Amino acid sequence: MPDDFASNCQDADVLLKRFRAGNLPHFINGKSDEGRSGKTFDSLTPIDNSLIGEVAAGNADDIDAACKAAEAAFAEWKEMPGQARKKLMHKIADGIVERARDIALVESYDSGQAIRFMNKAAIRGAANFRFFGDMAPGARDGQSLPADEHINYTVRQPIGPVGVITPWNTPFMLSTWKIAPALAAGCTVVHKPAEWSPYTAMMLAEIAHDAGLPDGVLNCVQGLGEDAGKPLTEHPAIKAVAFVGETVTGSHIMRQGADTLKRVHFELGGKNPVIVFEDADLERALDAVVFMIYSLNGERCTSSSRLLIQESVQEEFTTKLVERVKNLKVGHPLDPATEVGPLIHDRHLQKVCSYFDIATSEGATVAAGGKAAPIDGMGNYVEPTLFVGARNDMRIAQQEVFGPVLTAITFKNEQEAIEIANDIDYGLAGYVWTNDIGRGHRMARAIDAGMIWVNSENNRHLPAPFGGMKNSGIGRDGGDYSFEFYMETKNVCIAMGSHRIPQLGST
Ligand code: NAD
Repeated sequence: MPDDFASNCQDADVLLKRFRAGNLPHFINGKSDEGRSGKTFDSLTPIDNSLIGEVAAGNADDIDAACKAAEAAFAEWKEMPGQARKKLMHKIADGIVERARDIALVESYDSGQAIRFMNKAAIRGAANFRFFGDMAPGARDGQSLPADEHINYTVRQPIGPVGVITPWNTPFMLSTWKIAPALAAGCTVVHKPAEWSPYTAMMLAEIAHDAGLPDGVLNCVQGLGEDAGKPLTEHPAIKAVAFVGETVTGSHIMRQGADTLKRVHFELGGKNPVIVFEDADLERALDAVVFMIYSLNGERCTSSSRLLIQESVQEEFTTKLVERVKNLKVGHPLDPATEVGPLIHDRHLQKVCSYFDIATSEGATVAAGGKAAPIDGMGNYVEPTLFVGARNDMRIAQQEVFGPVLTAITFKNEQEAIEIANDIDYGLAGYVWTNDIGRGHRMARAIDAGMIWVNSENNRHLPAPFGGMKNSGIGRDGGDYSFEFYMETKNVCIAMGSHRIPQLGST
């Protein structure tokens, strides 16, 4: 398969013709659907902020149609044997693999994420379908809990139609991470993708439909959060909402879902520490530090955006870090050489750039980057940035910037590292670099975060739990943890016939 800049641009252009020619519709009950209001919104590419096309602006009526379709399809889908669901999900995975290059090209163009990462993200989407497809036959399995005179056993059943609301940072992969376990559990889905990156959600719905997924099992409604996301979280047919996005949006969704008692699963923001001790393999640590904040444009929930570096190695480490940051290749996302592409939207670029002034006004030093970097005067490009000499109480250390921006803070010893790491509202991930095995374990225990990696960048194992503590989320995804969310557990208690039943009213 070609992967050079020119062929990528040519092939993306061919794929995008379709979206340029007409409005991007919803996908409801197995069909593309123009929407009930006829209203649309513009979708721009971050490469130069030019128009890609118009997108159907979903509203409460579109959501209602999708939720009713999901409700109607649920009766049959939940009864489909697990083996049959598994087969279908593997067919969807095959379809994703077949179209992986198309998905990657569209995603890169639409979101600004570098093609080198999006190629892998599309394939990872297929892996999510295979992994959870393989788990479908055992999804209902429960526990046997015998007592003296009764046998208790548990079974699980899918909770019902669910809403999936996703963000724009790696839209395709993230949506499969939610949709695949929901389908494997026997739930039907209404997906509301992010308005800044709408296209690959439609491609997923089409691939699933072509693979033979029954109508109404996976529906996709495009639109803004307030207009389409909100009614989805309020709809009575929807039993649970799986949401990935900002912490503040999570609070809104919790409130919106209160009247209908929605079960919620939140994967929210992060300001994750990477802690480098003097005894670490500093070369490997350097690779991981650079990768975990500057890959995916730093628009990554698990990015290690706070570097905690031990004082004794601070100078040596920072010198090498500055060199690496200055050397990062910022460029067009379809260029395979590009390491950092343009940020998703002009509004997000403004937000990221606002931190440059904030950092200096609060007393940090810009050691690399620190300004927007349009190419030929266009696009949401920004220089990969490193702040040094920061304190943990500064806004650049406390707030999620969600861009290629790293804040470095020094610490003296283990205790201070723990205090700094935990002195934050977020608790998604933490990274520790040390060659002292005991310290690795101590730090893993002490850091308040849902996921800790020791001597590693973010390395995912699909059965392992993924999720955050504190303001970073509620619940865990991955393996059986996902089924805990998408399914109800039912206890069945059967008497052996020997126990005494209280006799009221007898003489
Ligand atoms: P966002 O919260 O602005 O939007 C996410 C989605 O929610 C979009 O589809 C949006 O339309 C929708 N939405 C907005 N308001 C809504 C409302 N009132 N009701 C229902 N839906 C609504 O987030 P974003 O800017 O798209 O994404 C970036 C954020 O996502 C960052 O904070 C990042 O850390 C987080 N994120 C977290 C994880 C994780 O696993 N923890 C993964 C990726 C991204």
